[in-house]
Amino acid sequence: MIIKPKVRGFVCVTAHPAGCAAHVGEWINLVKSRNPIRGGPRRALVIGASTGYGLASRVTAAFGCGAGTLGIFYERPSEDGRTATPGWYNSIAFTKAARAAGLFAGNINGDAFSDEIKAQALESIRREMGQVDLVVYSLASPRRAHPKTAAVHKSVLKPVGAPYTNKTVDTDKGIVSEVTIEPASPQEISDTVAVMGGEDWEMWMNALASAKLLAPGAQAAAYSYIGPEVTWAIYKNGTIGLAKNDLERAARNIDSLLKLNGGGRAIISVNKALVTQASSAIPVVPLYISILYKIMKAAGTHEGCIEQMQRLFATQIYAPSGPRFDEAGRVRVDDLEMRAEVQAAVAKVWPEVTTENLGSLTDIAGYRSEFLKLFGFGLAGVDYGADAEPHVQME
Ligand code: NAD
Repeated sequence: MIIKPKVRGFVCVTAHPAGCAAHVGEWINLVKSRNPIRGGPRRALVIGASTGYGLASRVTAAFGCGAGTLGIFYERPSEDGRTATPGWYNSIAFTKAARAAGLFAGNINGDAFSDEIKAQALESIRREMGQVDLVVYSLASPRRAHPKTAAVHKSVLKPVGAPYTNKTVDTDKGIVSEVTIEPASPQEISDTVAVMGGEDWEMWMNALASAKLLAPGAQAAAYSYIGPEVTWAIYKNGTIGLAKNDLERAARNIDSLLKLNGGGRAIISVNKALVTQASSAIPVVPLYISILYKIMKAAGTHEGCIEQMQRLFATQIYAPSGPRFDEAGRVRVDDLEMRAEVQAAVAKVWPEVTTENLGSLTDIAGYRSEFLKLFGFGLAGVDYGADAEPHVQME
């Protein structure tokens, strides 16, 4: 079938297998073009490994460090007349390339929050890897069925305490408008913390430790975001920010666990705002990203997921002198985004942006092409007019 993008709001309901493979290929080539990362992981478990920061972590572990990887993700295979989700095609492409390079690559497609998928992962590590020396936790999910209570928690992206009004952009239609978001209820806050907080990461780490599947000195990492004041009501001080505070709480517990396991550590890395399937669903943030991209591209400091994760591994987690921490004990690879001159430029443009000048004041074009790339569209060297086979098996 000829596969074309079908964008519906902030999702694209089609994905191109060859385009996704080309996208993964670009990331692998970027990592291979940099110096190998000495002292990196040998055997990594990546939870949320099929897209965004998790996939970039997996590519960096494999092609920057020579690690075998087990990837956990929740993707939908193709059905009659319907393509698979991009993470499905990405994982197949990654696996082919890793195995061709002589690296172990295993995949488990299913709900990482469940006991069943954790048990499958432990079994796979025991059988195929022995132990793991890095665990990356990079889930972004709208819901979690709690494995102990069976309650289904749904995360929301809302302010806390008071309504929030700000500009937002419909990235598909190019319309800038004002949006008011009502504050979350106490139930919505605790549900969001249950989904995007740290409890599940702790469950994973405790299960791995109990099964003696953590190599001595094993490290763990999870990702957070802080961003500029203009997004704080919806992000840092909103429901997702409270969940990230809980992720940091979990990181401290996991850090203690890993310290006792041969001197390992757990880190929270604060990453840059980037176009991913998860971030495109957050109100206000896509407009911020469109402005930010324009400013950072002009300054020559723009990075994507893969540059961010390559830098995190090379200059922080596996730096010979070890990671550098901020005052709250977090690692920062959002440093270039948060530079005063970058944020001053964003703040200057923010009040001026309208539907009419969106194209000139922001990099909405770059946002859109990055968004389509997430689904395998717009990659160089891919013949989008050719018949494509959507049904590809995961091995
Ligand atoms: P993403 O949507 O690209 O990736 C999410 C991953 O989680 C995918 O691999 C998906 O398959 C997997 N997943 C979702 N639900 C699952 C489930 N139930 N079981 C198994 N796998 C599941 O998201 P992303 O933007 O890369 O986000 C990853 C992390 O990075 C999140 O913690 C996010 O808050 C953080 N982060 C994102 C940004 C950003 O701008 N995108 C910035 C800083 C930090």
